[in-house]
Amino acid sequence: MAMFTTSWDDGHPLDLRMADLLARYGFAGTFYVPRRIPAGAACGPEGLPVIHGDSLRELGKAFEIGSHTLDHSDLAAVRIDEARRQVVGGKDWLEDELGHRVPGFCYPKGSHSPAIRRVVRDAGFSYARTTNDLYGHVRADPYQMPVSLHFYPRPRSELLRRLVKGGAWHARARTAVAAMRGGDLLSCLQAALDHVCRTGGMFHLWGHSWELEKFGGWRILEAFLGYAAERVPQQRRMTNGRLAQRAKLASQRRFAWLAPLAAAATLGEPGIVAEPLQRSPGPAAPLEERVEIEPADTRAFTGGRRLRWAMAR
Ligand SMILES: [Zn+2]
Repeated sequence: MAMFTTSWDDGHPLDLRMADLLARYGFAGTFYVPRRIPAGAACGPEGLPVIHGDSLRELGKAFEIGSHTLDHSDLAAVRIDEARRQVVGGKDWLEDELGHRVPGFCYPKGSHSPAIRRVVRDAGFSYARTTNDLYGHVRADPYQMPVSLHFYPRPRSELLRRLVKGGAWHARARTAVAAMRGGDLLSCLQAALDHVCRTGGMFHLWGHSWELEKFGGWRILEAFLGYAAERVPQQRRMTNGRLAQRAKLASQRRFAWLAPLAAAATLGEPGIVAEPLQRSPGPAAPLEERVEIEPADTRAFTGGRRLRWAMAR
């Protein structure tokens, strides 16, 4: 049985509509929010509005909120000092807004490198989502969380181009081929989800609410969520944070047999604890329970938010 998660980037006010829709179908999700998106910052020349204050906190009561830097900065395109300022500053700002720890990060434009991933890890994040797509399973490195499909209409040739360009073909080809069996966006998503449900992997849908508005994707998303709701049981629907936790546990179990070897290799080095694949500076603090979405919260959020959404239109 597949694990199912969704994530939505940029903190646009339309994320509130997205939250309504997810809640209506009982799905969890993670919203990645920068402090601001100025003109020219990756999403077009005009910049984009970002939710703050009470709206952001309301969203955070029912969904996970992750960081997306201070200014939606393309981290691979700036000096490492500036990248660090963007990553650390974005975390501090968001934690001040929400009043609790923020374990999740998402690279603006999907831009990352080994140096950028170290900056994110050292800032205290537990995981980071990429835009590395066409994956139908989780990966061991929590700072390279992959996705399955971008919620955006693409022809088969574009999916093929992305598969070839993105490498790791052995890991991505099956999901890509399944998606290419579909024609339009909805059938492409359905075919990929069916594949992941059969193989028992992970399905991670991501996108932008402002983008859905531009190409008229709301009805398609609703149709897909209805399709997924019939196939994915409640307990397999989760935030990105919970998926990262599950991936970490699975990775530790898979490599548990290496622990005695690693321990032997550290004999004579008192204080070193063998933890294969433990890349963070120390054991990561458990994610707070607020990353979980409970059915009761979902119902409460749907009612209140839908009202506010209707009033804001
Ligand atoms: Zn973004």
